[in-house]
Amino acid sequence: MLGNFKYSNPTKLYFGEDALSNLKVELASYGTNVQLVYGGGSIKKNGIYEQVITILKECGKVIFEDSGVMPNPTVEKLAEGCQIAREHQVDLILAVGGGSVCDYAKAVSISAYCEDDPWEKYYIRFEDVTCKIIPVGCVLTMVGTGSEMNGGAVITNHKQKLKIGHVFGDNVFPKFSILNPKFTYSLPKYQMVAGCFDIMSHILEQYFSGEDDTTSDYIAEGLLRSLITSSKIAVKNPEDYEARSNIMWTATWALNTLIAMGKTTDWEVHMLGQAIGAHTDATHGMTLSAVSIPYYKYIMADGLQKFKRYAIHVWDVDPSGKTDEQIAREGLDRMETYMKELGLVMNLSELGVTEAMIEPIANSTLIMEGGYRILNHEDIVNILTNSL
Ligand code: NAP
Ligand code: FE
Repeated sequence: MLGNFKYSNPTKLYFGEDALSNLKVELASYGTNVQLVYGGGSIKKNGIYEQVITILKECGKVIFEDSGVMPNPTVEKLAEGCQIAREHQVDLILAVGGGSVCDYAKAVSISAYCEDDPWEKYYIRFEDVTCKIIPVGCVLTMVGTGSEMNGGAVITNHKQKLKIGHVFGDNVFPKFSILNPKFTYSLPKYQMVAGCFDIMSHILEQYFSGEDDTTSDYIAEGLLRSLITSSKIAVKNPEDYEARSNIMWTATWALNTLIAMGKTTDWEVHMLGQAIGAHTDATHGMTLSAVSIPYYKYIMADGLQKFKRYAIHVWDVDPSGKTDEQIAREGLDRMETYMKELGLVMNLSELGVTEAMIEPIANSTLIMEGGYRILNHEDIVNILTNSL
């Protein structure tokens, strides 16, 4: 049964080849000082930086650059960004990049005027924002996280060996996001497929929880089918506009809160992935792909009917003459074959994880309660060991 809920999403999206031309219209709503946030320089190589700077200058903005946002942004970098925002009293934070850059921009927006230590307040105590929030806009260049239309912001604390995401409310969502599928053409294949698996994982984290025949489940299955088809095309032809568009749009809907409405969700794969990220700094999507099949095989018996439904509705497994378990397992086998075809990382060793690291990673893994089985420490160790 679908539970009670409130649905609203305050982010305005501009999608398509000409999407960036709308930046001008949006900039008119904000003051002069703009903090331009970006990563390690990919936007300078593919020309997006030049296009954005030209528009900012045409609109008479004063630009304060905040570059070098690393994949998996850190608490130390966050402090740097807050300093820039406060010192120049910025009116808008404009993120140009992937999920790391968008997440970081959101974290700066709520931390610059935070009187407490933001890490302690938001990521250890999971408190709400009580200070002034600087508006954020995003120009997306990497697809996967859904950060362009949600309140999530993941930050890594290497000293504490913790990578934690806080999902904030409507007031932290980007005010606007600009999505041009062509901006993703220059992504290296490794990043592109990691992003595709991040999308798949977001959908599955919400799908493999609860037992209902809900609208959310049918939407999730449709998104998965679109993603599987489009990712296979994009891997062969990265400049297939239709495939890249469908991947981009699927990523947004996978994690803009819609498919979680009225149902429980799991997120244990992300908790495992984030713990692995805290110990290895590996690419987010690959930390998820390395543990997903071992995790789902581990819990399959506890959610057998849903795994059976997944096999039939998403992977077209023919159920005739087979037991529920055989059907469910065939679904996971087909998923595994697809993942290998895409070129995803299928084990933790490839990410530099050794047997000696299993226990420390397990200690950094948060345990969720929305999945088909509430794991204990030993289960986490088993799943990580099965993923080696
Ligand atoms: P990312 O870390 O933002 O970017 C990965 C790499 O791709 C960077 O090296 C970046 O280079 C490069 N890149 C980006 N766009 C490019 C382009 N168009 N051409 C060439 N290279 C490009 O990757 P992401 O997967 O989007 O974000 C990962 C972070 O988001 C993780 O911290 C993860 O935990 C978090 N996350 C957030 C949510 C959420 O709901 N908010 C959900 C899942 C994960 P440059 O640095 O040079 O630009
Ligand atoms: Fe993710």
